[in-house]
Amino acid sequence: MIVAIDGPAGSGKSTTARRVAVQMGYLHIDTGAMFRAVTYAAIESGIPAKDEALVGFLERIPLVIEVRGADFRVMLDRQDISAAIRTPEVGALVSDYAQLPAVRAYLLGRQRKLGYEAKVAGSGAVLEGRDIGSVVFPDADVKVFLQASKQTRAARRFAELARKGVQTTEAAVLAELEDRDQKDAARAHAPLVMPAGAVVVDTTDVTIDEQVAIVVRLIREALPEPVEPTNT
Ligand code: C5P
Repeated sequence: MIVAIDGPAGSGKSTTARRVAVQMGYLHIDTGAMFRAVTYAAIESGIPAKDEALVGFLERIPLVIEVRGADFRVMLDRQDISAAIRTPEVGALVSDYAQLPAVRAYLLGRQRKLGYEAKVAGSGAVLEGRDIGSVVFPDADVKVFLQASKQTRAARRFAELARKGVQTTEAAVLAELEDRDQKDAARAHAPLVMPAGAVVVDTTDVTIDEQVAIVVRLIREALPEPVEPTNT
């Protein structure tokens, strides 16, 4: 079972995907964290957001993805950078790196491999991002597109950053979200789009519990009927 959850920044993808994965016993694959990890590594090494600068760099990058059920971690040079990739600095630059064909090609194979491995093992994976239902898994069993008003998304992201002790303002968070949405939707390669066949869930006035329940219901409806044992 492959579940694709797409949507703009702050629409609630990560929380929903993680909780759905826990409830269903599936893997949670946070593809945004993968783009953030590449961006973090490039910033650390002073590599600019240009395809030609990144090609050799991507081959050497010591990036390891660790997925244990709903626990998704990104490791760089054996160091857990899962928290370090959430800073406003990485947020401000990630869309510039994510628009590059070299970066997308580097991560696409890894994302597909993680999903297929879960499926082959008879389990499932919940992948969240911007192009999961359109490019990474266009044949996903369940496709969901989450959306919410800009103000709601900015308020949620601001509260999340405040909880983590990151100093910022709601206006700055809103400006960053608008900038990322614009770049993610306008880019030439794998832009943020509503994938064909996706169920749209507007989360503006919906609680996290309700969001999770909606996605879990869609998964259960898509699961094959259990085969009844026959008495022969
Ligand atoms: O999901 P998150 O907001 O952490 O994603 C960070 C950025 O990574 C996005 O703004 C986008 O530029 C990029 N991204 C992408 N394709 C994905 C997931 C994320 O381009 N599938």
